[in-house]
Amino acid sequence: MRTFKDRISQAVALLKEAGNVTAFTGAGISTESGISDFRSKGGVWDRYRIVTYQEFIESHDARVEYWKMKKELFHEIKAAGPNNAHYALAELERMGKLKCLVTQNIDGLHQDAGSSSVIELHGTNRKAVCLSCGKLWPIEDIQVRLEAGEVAPECDECRGFIKPATISFGQSMPEQEMIKAYECAVRCDFLIMIGSSLQVEPAASIPREAHRTGARLIYINRTETPTDNLAEVLFRENAGEVMAELLRGLKSKSAD
Ligand SMILES: [Zn+2]
Repeated sequence: MRTFKDRISQAVALLKEAGNVTAFTGAGISTESGISDFRSKGGVWDRYRIVTYQEFIESHDARVEYWKMKKELFHEIKAAGPNNAHYALAELERMGKLKCLVTQNIDGLHQDAGSSSVIELHGTNRKAVCLSCGKLWPIEDIQVRLEAGEVAPECDECRGFIKPATISFGQSMPEQEMIKAYECAVRCDFLIMIGSSLQVEPAASIPREAHRTGARLIYINRTETPTDNLAEVLFRENAGEVMAELLRGLKSKSAD
């Protein structure tokens, strides 16, 4: 792999030429903020088994187990703040470069960093929804109920099951968000992928679609992905560090 400095220069040059940038982010951008992903040893995901959507619907015990895990995850998310990578993307949006931010994350850290329009493919942990009538709550309202001893909260209007507004395993992807994400992929001329191992379909097809329709790609991810060959520049370094350098390069007047 070429030196970090070389790769930064090349990526900055590409970014300077770009007129319509899409960013695609996954769990890796938030691990630097202290949020564990599926692979983090000892993380929330390591200590609880995955409850599928079907199980959640069918079993009270599964709902109790699910909410117990979520309660722990909320504490983790509450303690976490955006890092330089989140802030850099928000800044790219303010500069008018970044037109779309598509994320697989449910932690809301892009919004905390100041990004205004975020396409959340896997929903959000910041809200809860009644699965029967669709009523929405800020997640804090449900947290209060959990802390008060409820183990599987039900809707006060219809007694339906309440679930965080995230997409669970076994639940289909939100159609509108997927359509918007594909539009972004097709329209952009440059895509920055940060922190996804690109294993989960159909989300992983967003960078592929961008490449197919002529966009140039850079990948910032700790590990290999199935489509590394599509990226013109690859970074294995910290996303926060890489994004801060790219932003610095983009703002510098020099032609390097
Ligand atoms: Zn309801």
